[in-house]
Amino acid sequence: MKLLLLRCPKCNQALAPGQDDVVIQCPNCRAAVSITEGGLALPAAQYVRPAGAEPAAWLPFWVYRSKVTMQARKTQGGRAGQDAETFWAGPRTVYVPAWRCDLQEARDLVQNLLEEQPHLEAMTRPEEAVFEPAVLTPQDARKLLELVIVTIEAERNDWMETLAFDLRLDSEALWLLPAVRDGDGWQLLVKNL
Ligand SMILES: [Zn+2]
Repeated sequence: MKLLLLRCPKCNQALAPGQDDVVIQCPNCRAAVSITEGGLALPAAQYVRPAGAEPAAWLPFWVYRSKVTMQARKTQGGRAGQDAETFWAGPRTVYVPAWRCDLQEARDLVQNLLEEQPHLEAMTRPEEAVFEPAVLTPQDARKLLELVIVTIEAERNDWMETLAFDLRLDSEALWLLPAVRDGDGWQLLVKNL
């Protein structure tokens, strides 16, 4: 167990991050504070305007512009190869859940957001906004994304045998999406989800 005595780089408040936290919110000035081996930093965190209800909390996502290039996609038949080409033709925005959630929930969210490509409107931080700590590192975000890409391709109706692709991720950013509690999990307050 690591014991850390840390202070917010912005307001000097004492911070008590959990062992796996990579970005937390300062309880005093509410800034996003990232925790790495190299020390603490103040990353930009972009809040998203809620659609509908008042959010209970905000959930962290790693957001990228992504470009997937299919290098080899071998199947036993079917014409879904063209669907794959069309789906990945242009760059897409990807959103990877970074708070502590189970793998299935995370995969479903990545896939839904990848397919829906919702228009998210940025806003300045609401006065009382509280966000969940991020525990997923950007390195793990890439791994999860690769898993989802394989899932999407395997679900096409053409008996995929092998898949090789190149994944380019640009403009890494931390976004905070509004949510309300829904049973054990969360419901995002984003249109079309
Ligand atoms: Zn602070």
